[in-house]
Formats: sequence, C-alpha cells, structure tokens
Amino acid sequence: MTLMTGKEYVESLRNLDIKVYMFGEKVENPVDNPIIRPSINSVAMTYDLAHDPEYEDLMTTTSHLTGNRINRFCHIHQSKEDLVKKIKMQRLMGQKTASCFQRCVGMDAFNAIYSTTYEIDKEKGTNYHERFKKYLVYCQDNDLVVDGAMTDPKGDRGLSPSQQEDPDMYVHIKEIREDGIVVRGAKAHQTGSINSHEHLIMPTIAMREEDAAYAVSFAVPTDAKGVFMIYGRQSCDTRKLEDDADIDLGNNTFGGQEALVIFDDVFVPNERIFMCKEWEYSGMLVERFAGYHRQSYACKTGVGDVLIGAAALAADYNGVPKASHIKDKIIEMQHLNETMWACSLACSYEGVKTESGGYLIDLLLANVCKQNVTRFPYDIARLAEDIAGGLMVTMPSEKDLKGNFTGPWVEKFLKGKIGADTENRMRVLRLIENITLGTAAVGYRTESMHGAGSPQAQRIMIARQGNLESKKEMARKIAHLDVSKDNF
Ligand code: SF4
Ligand code: FE
Repeated sequence: MTLMTGKEYVESLRNLDIKVYMFGEKVENPVDNPIIRPSINSVAMTYDLAHDPEYEDLMTTTSHLTGNRINRFCHIHQSKEDLVKKIKMQRLMGQKTASCFQRCVGMDAFNAIYSTTYEIDKEKGTNYHERFKKYLVYCQDNDLVVDGAMTDPKGDRGLSPSQQEDPDMYVHIKEIREDGIVVRGAKAHQTGSINSHEHLIMPTIAMREEDAAYAVSFAVPTDAKGVFMIYGRQSCDTRKLEDDADIDLGNNTFGGQEALVIFDDVFVPNERIFMCKEWEYSGMLVERFAGYHRQSYACKTGVGDVLIGAAALAADYNGVPKASHIKDKIIEMQHLNETMWACSLACSYEGVKTESGGYLIDLLLANVCKQNVTRFPYDIARLAEDIAGGLMVTMPSEKDLKGNFTGPWVEKFLKGKIGADTENRMRVLRLIENITLGTAAVGYRTESMHGAGSPQAQRIMIARQGNLESKKEMARKIAHLDVSKDNF
C-alpha cells in the first residue's frame, strides 16, 4: 500500500468500530464530532505533509525491513541522521498545527520495543523480535497511526503493581491460553488513542519478579473486543460546540487529544505479544520509550515558534513592537525555545546503535532535554501573556464582535494600533489564549510537565546516567587528593 493522504486517513478511521465515550455518553460518530475532529486534523497533517515535495525528505523514509517508502512516524531509526530528522519533523509539525499531532507515541514505542525485544530474545531464546518485525511491517505497509501506550492509572503510588488492592490499576495478564493471553487494566492520558488504528502497549515501570504478570507488551486494534475509551476533556473544549465557532477557538483547525483507554478482558493472539512476564526487561523498555519521547518534545519547540510569533504580532497590534522591554522579552522566549531545541539535537547527534541495529538517543541528554521542557514552556507562556496583556482573558466574544448592538462598541474599544484590524487583533490574542490556557495548553503546558514522565522521573535518570563517581575522580586528581589519608 502507498502512503495515505490526510483524507484517506480520516476515511480509514470511519472503518473502525471505535468505542468512545464523552460526557457520559457513547459518541456515535467520533470522526465528525466537533470536539474530537481538530485532533484528527492534526494527525492528518502527518499524512498530507508526507506528500508535499517540500517536506518529503523529513516526513518519509525507506523501510529497512521492506525497502518501501514509508512515513517516518513508522520508521526504526537507522542512523544519527534519522534521529535528527525525526525531531526536525516534529518541530515542523508543531509549527504547522500549533498543537499535539499525536503520532509520535507510536513511533517511539516502535523503536523502544524493536531494540528491547532483540535483547530479550538473545538472552531468553524467545521470538518476540521476529513477531514484532512482522507487526511493524504491517503498520508500515498500511501507514497506520499507533497509540504507543505506557502510563497505567497506578492507584496507590506507594504500592507496587502486585500490591494494589485493585489489580487492574496496572495492565496485566489475566489468563494465558495456548493461542494467546487475556489482558485487563487501563492506560491513562493516552495521546491520540481515538485517532489511532492500533494500540501498542508497554509496561509503565521497572518490575520485580512478583510483578511478572504486569510485565507485558502487546498490540491490539483500536476497535478490538473489550477495548473502549473515555475522552479527556480540555479547558475551553465546549467552545467548539458553539454555532460557527471560529475566532474564540484561537485555533479553529487543529488540536490534541488524550483519553483513558480501558482493556476489559481483551484477548491478544500470540503473534501480537512482544513481552510476556520477562519482568527483568520491563525497565529497559520503559527507559528507552521514555528516552525517545523525551527527545520527541522537540514538538514543543515547534509550538513555541507559533507562540513567539503570536506574541510578537500581539505587540504589533498593540503598537509597541519597538519598546525595549518587549523586544527583550521576545529574545528571552527565543532563547528558551532554542535551548530546548539544542538539547533535542544534542541527544540525537549523540545517539548510539543498539544491538538490534536501531539507533537510540543519548539517554542523559534526552532527560536533560525533557527536564528543560518541564520549565521553559511555562516561562515562554508567561512572557507571551505578559506581552499580550490582560485583554487576552477579558475580551468579549466573537458573538459580541458580530452582534448588532455590541459589534460597533467592540470594534471601537478593542482597536489597538492605528490602521490595525480589530478582528485580527482578537484572533492573535485568542491564539495565545488557546496555547497557554485553552485546548492546546494540554499539550503545551501540563503535558510539558508530565508527558513522557514527570520532572522527578528525569531527575532519577540524570542521577543514574550522570556518572558522578567519574566526576569526583576528576576533582580528586586536579586537587591532588591522597585518599589513603581519608578514613570514611
Ligand atoms: Fe508528539 Fe509532542 Fe504530542 Fe508527544 S506531545 S505525541 S511528542 S506532538
Ligand atoms: Fe506526550
């Protein structure tokens, strides 16, 4: 099969019997639902840009398994250059959608499972890697969107999976049959899950032997029996339900999406199982997926580009683009944005080849990258709000702008720079609101904090990867310490 277009992708979703609930009710037609549709449009861009000659070098590549032209979101990175192209693609996508485009979680899961299954097989004599390669070719050939799913609800954080009062707090193997397994549990915050053809499941933490039933990785179609989703609502989401909603949305075309995905006794055939109780490898899989996804937050740099542009436009419409403090704030926003980018680039250029042949990012730098992402988008958002002014959150609605009585008053008093169009000014302010406080803020703000692991998860990895002992040794040498004199 050739690469799908965005339109073909949207149509392909209609063929799935996806079970999704929102506001307590089943959504009969998720594809055309006004709350869901912008997130589908974002994913569709990953298809459309693959057909654009300007971007095909970033958006497509050659499968190392089949030699076919494939979308880069389905690719196993074969070089450092591939790792760099991956993040350039993500920055581009952030610029084009100003939101989360969701397809990265599948790409990151592909790469993490690819190298981990190779290493499990080598030690255990299993055949997960071959199975996974077949599954990957299926996804590549059909140009699928895959929800790479890691995060479990976790219940009581002070207890391990097997200690939970309710065993479903972590996805687990309920039954092993000759032809497959039955799984139960849920994955939380699942990015793009409703817009995906497949769910690709991984464990969420390193496991101990007693948690072996929770060390499971598998794939199921999104509409598999027993799988259903409950849509995660976003700030200002019901604005999308208003008649002719446009200006007040800030971004009337694109958006992100998260959902709670529930596995209510789901059967998984053997050929779709990629880890089954190999608890010793759970940590490796988690570390690699998290590392890839921490690199992936180059997407925030792309969305940041749009936000910086919007803040600069707001200054133009306010008539103050030359004020020195405004110029300095925009420089600061750019500095922060490019610092995140520098880390994404660094962890890619320092990538290493795994035993499987696939390339892995430098884990220390990927974690430093994500640690910056837990902070800098907040600072960038603060500066954008500073430049935008309070009007961003006190402004009358689109209906007021268009109202017979209110319209002329809104036009008159919301005018900024002489000659500037009032509606344009309102549109820019709503875009800033959307990214910093509205529907896109899920992806730009709170996801920057918790997506791909909360800040503490990166600090643990930085401690583990930072090799403090070697640094102490460097200091000992320079200071000419005689350790034989120490008694501790
Ligand atoms: Fe991709 Fe960024 Fe969305 Fe994660 S948050 S799926 S990296 S766009
Ligand atoms: Fe994410």
